[in-house]
Amino acid sequence: MEGKIVKVSGPLIVAENMADSKMFDVVRVSDKKLIGEIIELRGDKASIQVYEETSGLGPGEKVESTFAPLSVELAPGLIEGIFDGIQRPLLKVYQQYGDRIGRGISVNNIDHEKKWEFKPTKKVGDFVTAGDVIGEVQETSIVNHKIMIPFGISGTIKSIESGEFNITETVAVISTDDGDKQVCMLQKWPVRRGRPYKSKLSPYMPMVTGQRVIDTLFPIAKGGVAAVPGPFGSGKTVVQHQLAKWADADIIVYIGCGERGNEMTDVLNEFPELKDPKSGEPLMKRTVLIANTSDMPVAAREASIYTGITIAEYFRDMGYNVAIMADSTSRWAEALREMSGRLEEMPGEEGYPAYLSSRLAEFYERAGIVNVLGSEDKRGSITAIGAVSPQGGDLSEPVSQATLRIVKVFWGLSSSLAYKRHFPAIDWLISYSLYADKLVDWYNENVSADFVKLRAFAMSVLQEEAELEEIVRLVGADALSYKDRLTMETAKSIREDYLHQNAFHEVDTYASLEKQYKMLKLIYDYYRLGNEALSRDVEYVDVMSLPVREKIGRAKYIPENEIETLDKIDKEINDSIKSLINGGDDNV
Ligand code: ADP
Ligand code: MG
Repeated sequence: MEGKIVKVSGPLIVAENMADSKMFDVVRVSDKKLIGEIIELRGDKASIQVYEETSGLGPGEKVESTFAPLSVELAPGLIEGIFDGIQRPLLKVYQQYGDRIGRGISVNNIDHEKKWEFKPTKKVGDFVTAGDVIGEVQETSIVNHKIMIPFGISGTIKSIESGEFNITETVAVISTDDGDKQVCMLQKWPVRRGRPYKSKLSPYMPMVTGQRVIDTLFPIAKGGVAAVPGPFGSGKTVVQHQLAKWADADIIVYIGCGERGNEMTDVLNEFPELKDPKSGEPLMKRTVLIANTSDMPVAAREASIYTGITIAEYFRDMGYNVAIMADSTSRWAEALREMSGRLEEMPGEEGYPAYLSSRLAEFYERAGIVNVLGSEDKRGSITAIGAVSPQGGDLSEPVSQATLRIVKVFWGLSSSLAYKRHFPAIDWLISYSLYADKLVDWYNENVSADFVKLRAFAMSVLQEEAELEEIVRLVGADALSYKDRLTMETAKSIREDYLHQNAFHEVDTYASLEKQYKMLKLIYDYYRLGNEALSRDVEYVDVMSLPVREKIGRAKYIPENEIETLDKIDKEINDSIKSLINGGDDNV
């Protein structure tokens, strides 16, 4: 039976005679064989979102179902790949078909010809089950790609190869209860279904990002979910790039949805230029990039976040820590809204469909830290960070609201901080991390037993500053006690010397947790001892004019390998304030 188009509305077509298809089956539309996906079925009528330009299509043209859901290819060749929302390789398509993506083209998602050196890690006679690693491919200088037994197969290895193979050639034969199964390096997985795992764990360790405002004040756990909302120009993309570069993740999946222009946006231009600081190699050597430019059909943009997270799950299943970034989910939501409008669904708030939140949740819920499938005990994680770009930065709009209900970390970017060039412009008064408490044990054991105390100190001083500023506005600075003034100065120091971090400064761009701890301790000690000095009647000006203060301001530029300099500054703080307290006696 063959379907027929009855209506075309932009990226949406309606076809009849489709009764034997299922929801989310992929179809080929017209003789041009455009790729589409069934998103609504009523009787024998199917509504189909088409991932390609539909101009020129008309009623009567044929629609053929593939009877399979939208799937991605998972195999060596993913890393360094630049794909569109349905995993078509952008560069290859551009090379073969010129500037724009040709319609109805058939290219493999991943290269099927390229040979990879397969090194077996199991031998004949070994029992294997889904998720077990049977071999490895050094995919790039950074990534060791593990070849796993696909879902649904378990048995004993009857034969296993070693040497050069492409991804469709058999590398092992498994004898199972239903006969011999050939295993190649390629797996397929439907994007809208999460890949299975044994069990999900509660997040317990941070994903260290080297960004002080994040790691110290609003940490994200490995397997956690975060949102970065902010108006245009507030630094969402820089935050995402910084995390891609510096977070302790093995694999990065970056989904870029172009914010402006119709050219091959920022994503394609900027991302491949980034360097992996750990290896000195291009960051692409451990990255999969999915790019939606605004000249691509909206339906492909809608699919992109599922394509991305499926790829992330595949690397998680190898036992890797994966970080996935979507910049920005607002562009994705607009695609959803457009499709919903075409379907003539009942619009919800601001025209977004009622299922906006559940769709967003379906994406974020696939993050997490899990025990992966397989006979070995092994963990892998996906940490998901979505940028949100509400109009004018107004967080009351539906996409921000829906996102905030799901994520556990909220890094709220503020345009006034960005305007003052305080970067990252993460506003400490509105941001939060629900992981902070869960990570206390980890910080105690791995950084210092008082790191958590220092965080509480920083947060409370920043809160107090906001309150004191209010008083100053009402009655003037003269109303403040010297201790209040010390608090104000300390807050300024936390903001300027600590939270402010220049992504483009060679040293400042990254701070280890040890450095973060030592830097914050300087500010804390100055505050604590300064308060003590004021209690002992030392003059305020004397406390504030110690030359060591300037060293606190420059501490961020001290390289990681000279970190003991921070201990020296701390000693100087202790010595100089104590000598003030002792009447300057031992300051000679
Ligand atoms: P958005 O994605 O929110 O529109 P961008 O991430 O492109 O904003 O940031 C806009 C500009 O702000 C950047 O080009 C850069 O000049 C500045 N900026 C943002 N974050 C930082 C940072 N951490 N350090 C230095 N400059 C920054
Ligand atoms: Mg941006």
